[in-house]
Amino acid sequence: MSCVACGSSNITLAYKARDIHEKSFTHFRCQSCNTVQIEHFDSALLAYAYDTGYYGGTDTKFKWPFSTLFDLGKKLAAKHTATLINDSETDILDIGCGKGDFLEKLHGLGHSRLWGNDIEKPQQLPAYIHWLPGSFPDIQEVGQQFDLITLTHVFEHLQEPVKVISKLNDLLKPNGRILLSQPNIDSLQAEKYQNFWLHLDPPRHLHLIPPAQLKKMFAEAGFQLESEKYDSPLYNPFGYLQSWLNKRITQRDLLYEFLKKGGRIKNLKGFFQLIFSFLFAGLSFPFYFLLDRSESKKGKSGTMELVFRKK
Ligand SMILES: [Zn+2]
Repeated sequence: MSCVACGSSNITLAYKARDIHEKSFTHFRCQSCNTVQIEHFDSALLAYAYDTGYYGGTDTKFKWPFSTLFDLGKKLAAKHTATLINDSETDILDIGCGKGDFLEKLHGLGHSRLWGNDIEKPQQLPAYIHWLPGSFPDIQEVGQQFDLITLTHVFEHLQEPVKVISKLNDLLKPNGRILLSQPNIDSLQAEKYQNFWLHLDPPRHLHLIPPAQLKKMFAEAGFQLESEKYDSPLYNPFGYLQSWLNKRITQRDLLYEFLKKGGRIKNLKGFFQLIFSFLFAGLSFPFYFLLDRSESKKGKSGTMELVFRKK
């Protein structure tokens, strides 16, 4: 076994992490670049990982009123992303586009040449989004290049990161840009909570490559780093509080899973744990929100957003 990010064979056992169905997955850490990767990725693992209603059907992912809050968060995130897009960037591809929410927001902001890629085509994908089927980087022939490609919490789900970066390079026009966001394995919340960390999301996150190594890989493929950002009110405070709860409550991601549509509590113990989780979340959110602001300045908060330009 070798590191998917740097190729080093100097990898050691990091931890075993239980998923939401109590199944255990072994994670390894690369001693050269600090990438954490899951034991082995094969088709059986991937089938298991996406079997249990991961895509949340065709409707909103979360229960009301959390769906409203989450949509607001997503809207603000899309608005922020839109500010990064230049007027000259017209052809935009979103990899792992899900139901096309992000592209829909861009359409609302006046962008019209939009492509979306994901494994399954959602039933309600707006007609103005060009659909590209396939598991990236194995997608159907596109026949054109893009000004901007976005991967929002998607890169860590893709099996071969080196191959992914090379395909991104092929798909971009000269000077084209990549906007990539994903969990930050170098964050203080990842270090503190290890196997209990929310953003480990076993077994869907196949590898978590630290910012320094990601920058190195993109540089080697001919990209230049344009900007980096680490604060995220949508992902980071919740990452902290759910991880804190995971360490104390046996059921992994109890609160997060309950907030999803169809999320249910199994017994009385779970009910009390949920009440406790809600109370803790409400009380701790402002603290974690401020903590994220401070940690992000040092590149140590729960998620990262990197923008690369093709040279
Ligand atoms: Zn490595």
